[in-house]
Amino acid sequence: MIATLYKDFIFESAHRLPHAPPGHKCSQLHGHSFLIRLEVTGEVDPNTGWIMDFADLKAAFNPVLNQLDHHYLNDIPGLKNPTSEVLAQWVWGQLKPNLPILSAVTIKETCTAGCIYRGQ
Ligand SMILES: [Zn+2]
Repeated sequence: MIATLYKDFIFESAHRLPHAPPGHKCSQLHGHSFLIRLEVTGEVDPNTGWIMDFADLKAAFNPVLNQLDHHYLNDIPGLKNPTSEVLAQWVWGQLKPNLPILSAVTIKETCTAGCIYRGQ
């Protein structure tokens, strides 16, 4: 049996989008309560009944989360233009080597707007 698990994380960060068109509000320094949803897809272990322990997912993501939370995203190497798309791909790149069953990274900047990256 194959299934997908997900876990949501919240972090607070400031950013600006330097490549937004002139006068665009996102080119101004501002902040978000970002939501990140990590999905892992894999075989459900017949003994444990789970794909992986949520605690292990949290532990794998914690070093990445600590780089983002309460930081100015534009200062982080690889995030000079921290759109949701770029941020999702950056998180994927940080996490995938240690979490091979990672199957999607969702970034939400607001309650109604976000991006899903599946590694392509
Ligand atoms: Zn923004």
